[in-house]
Amino acid sequence: MLSYQHAFHAGNHADVLKHITLIACLQRLNKKQKPYFALDTHAGTGLYALEKTSSKRDAFAFEALLTGLYNNDAVSANEQINNEALRAYAGLLQTLAGKSLYPGSPAILSYFSRPHDNVHANELASQMYAELDKANRTFGDIGNTVHLHNRDAFELINAMMPPKPNRGLVLIDPPYEQAIEYQAVAQSLSSALKKWSNGLYMLWYPLLSPTRINRQTKALESNPKAGQSENMLERLKVDVGQHCTGGMLSIEFANQAPSSQVGMYGSGVCLINPPFQIDACLDEVLALLVKHVSLDENALSNTKWHIKPS
Ligand code: SAM
Repeated sequence: MLSYQHAFHAGNHADVLKHITLIACLQRLNKKQKPYFALDTHAGTGLYALEKTSSKRDAFAFEALLTGLYNNDAVSANEQINNEALRAYAGLLQTLAGKSLYPGSPAILSYFSRPHDNVHANELASQMYAELDKANRTFGDIGNTVHLHNRDAFELINAMMPPKPNRGLVLIDPPYEQAIEYQAVAQSLSSALKKWSNGLYMLWYPLLSPTRINRQTKALESNPKAGQSENMLERLKVDVGQHCTGGMLSIEFANQAPSSQVGMYGSGVCLINPPFQIDACLDEVLALLVKHVSLDENALSNTKWHIKPS
């Protein structure tokens, strides 16, 4: 049973980090004229009504950055955005804001890919898939239409590896509603890396507080999903160490300290075979997120090489 609705989360700090990282990766792939393959395994609906996401934006307190990107006024005159990924993100937001829409990852793939690239987006939930299909029919207005799939992501990754052409990326962005998804990600990446060891894999994961207040009983209890992201990365590190030479990098942002009041206090993106020097680009993005999207002084960011490229 699929109950996750990304519309309630679209545009939050985790989405911003993930989408800017995706843009930075696509910009690097675009530096070569040669076509690439891209697969968005958990695509969502592709486009989100800005008004609906705006109400949630307040809850996540990230509007300062987005408002700044839209209007170029939240960032002061001596803090111009020179980061190419952020500028490109702002450009896409401005393009879609005119249509009162906020981009999901398939819209980002549509906007930044070229007509000769081989781009795929997959969504399992029927209703979401129908909305994605509708969005895809409008993608021609902002970029390219993409190939759509309505399958289980983990089965699809396996079926599509190794892809053609042999350069490109796979974005894996599960909702992690069930603890089993952490294992499914680790398993499917383990077999994908054996078939396509030079691919750029981009995996999103949540940072969860170790304790939470039970909504029914109001009692403090340990959060069973806390620590799962860390375990998943440890497992992944073994496979990356065996099969890849390009290294494994994590970029994390937390907009507040972990606490029993908040389930997800931050998120991370793990890049396997990351593009050269992407860490420097993302360090600048993280610094701006900490400055403009923090909820309190406990916000932190972190770029960590689990394995350096060899
Ligand atoms: N990547 C999107 C973006 O950045 O705009 C957000 C995706 S959302 C976090 C996760 C999506 O995965 C949901 O729309 C959900 O319906 C879908 N999903 C859940 N389990 C799936 C599975 N096994 N295979 C494919 N899609 C799945």
